Amino acid sequence: MANNSRVVVVGAGIIGLSAAYHALAEGFDVTIIDREPAGDKASFGNAGGIAVTEVIPASVPGLWRKAPFWMLDPLGPLSVRFAHAPRLLPWLWHFSQVGSASEVDRISKALAAINGRTYEDLVPMFAATGLAGELIRRGAITVYESENGFFKDRHEWDLKRSLGVEVQELSAAQVREMEPALGPVVKRGVFTPQWSHITDPKKIVDLLRAWLVANGVELVQENVDRIGPVKDGCEVFVSGGRTINADKAVVAAGAWSGELARQLGDRVLLESERGYNTTIVEPRVSLEREIIFAERKFVATPLSVGLRIGGAAEFGGLNAEPNYARSKALVKLARIYLPGMDGTDGIEWAGHRPATPDSLPVLGRASVSPNIIYAFGHGHLGLTQSATTGKLVGDLLVGRPPAVDLEAYSVNRFAISKKDALNDPAYVFLR
Ligand SMILES: Cc1cc2nc3c(=O)[nH]c(=O)nc-3n(C[C@H](O)[C@H](O)[C@H](O)COP(=O)(O)OP(=O)(O)OC[C@H]3O[C@@H](n4cnc5c(N)ncnc54)[C@H](O)[C@@H]3O)c2cc1C
Repeated sequence: MANNSRVVVVGAGIIGLSAAYHALAEGFDVTIIDREPAGDKASFGNAGGIAVTEVIPASVPGLWRKAPFWMLDPLGPLSVRFAHAPRLLPWLWHFSQVGSASEVDRISKALAAINGRTYEDLVPMFAATGLAGELIRRGAITVYESENGFFKDRHEWDLKRSLGVEVQELSAAQVREMEPALGPVVKRGVFTPQWSHITDPKKIVDLLRAWLVANGVELVQENVDRIGPVKDGCEVFVSGGRTINADKAVVAAGAWSGELARQLGDRVLLESERGYNTTIVEPRVSLEREIIFAERKFVATPLSVGLRIGGAAEFGGLNAEPNYARSKALVKLARIYLPGMDGTDGIEWAGHRPATPDSLPVLGRASVSPNIIYAFGHGHLGLTQSATTGKLVGDLLVGRPPAVDLEAYSVNRFAISKKDALNDPAYVFLR
């Protein structure tokens, strides 16, 4: 039912589109502004996993022992571009602070609270927008190439179990029975039936965007320079000097959201964690479901457009040139596990994950105005958490108690008082 109020959503990635869907469902007039609405950002090229079982943050006890080894390999799973390192320090400091056992426990519960709602929100949104057939619910298998690797991860699987994740341990023979294309290098596996994947991330955002426009959402192709609060609403300043007035605004600009939030007076620790992939159109092997390669930190997803091999976490800022040698390195790794795979016709891609140091999204109101809502920072899980984020944005727009307690996701977790700043070694680098 129409309520005669206008919501402007900044960003037409999967998060912005899901927020727009819920704003429309709540009866708002909706405008989405994106400088490149059909562009090639994270939502268009990700691995397509509905990774509901991923409830453990990136910063965990003991990571600091492993990370330097990963970084020794220039094309390994983790890298920091030298020129960007000083700017990364506040983020890294916060990342180190949330790696204690008690913080991991708190953050995992917060991740499980969102991920646990995924199908409740995603299935109806897909059904209403004609996307029901794009969701493939066959679970995923995490594979290990050594018994040791499997036993080292045991405590993480136990923690996941305690948070409601279904976990089935598999022998090498059971893995190969389910996925015959996997070679003898696989020694162990874990099946997570709640995981699912989609046919093609680009198809999802293209169809969702088209559905929204067909149902009355206005799509404006502009860069948003700044958002300013005014009495009972906000002004959105777009390039070229135009101002768009709205009752409410949603900041869903992915890895670019930090600047918009900072202009509104909120300190945000948000970095680009660039990921890479290669999509092999005719791989000559087939997989039933997504495979996660635990020790080497990458995944393979059987999409409708080909087999997508994806991974890598590169911290180099938003403006660094991509290094597609990483996409090639992932194909080389995949051939170790999938010996029959033909990797010659790959399409390479890179995209910016919007990463917070505690692996939690920023979800909630801006400090300066209840009419400006943040919905960004979903890191590795933006597709998974998209529909639930949209639902929570809808709750905030109409002032309903949100379906999930939002305290853990508040932007205020990055706020720092002047007194604390003097004791914070990273404050000097605050942007
Ligand atoms: C390699 C890789 C694999 C991944 N795999 C998965 C996966 O399997 N499952 C999963 O759940 N997640 C995955 N992710 C993460 C997921 O893709 C992201 O978390 C999600 O796409 C973020 O969506 P978003 O809408 O916030 O941002 P984006 O998709 O980046 O969209 C942001 C939009 O905002 C626009 N914009 C930015 N600033 C402005 C401005 N000032 N004015 C106008 N427009 C602006 C941009 O043009 C863009 O269209 C993966 C990511 C990568 C990189």
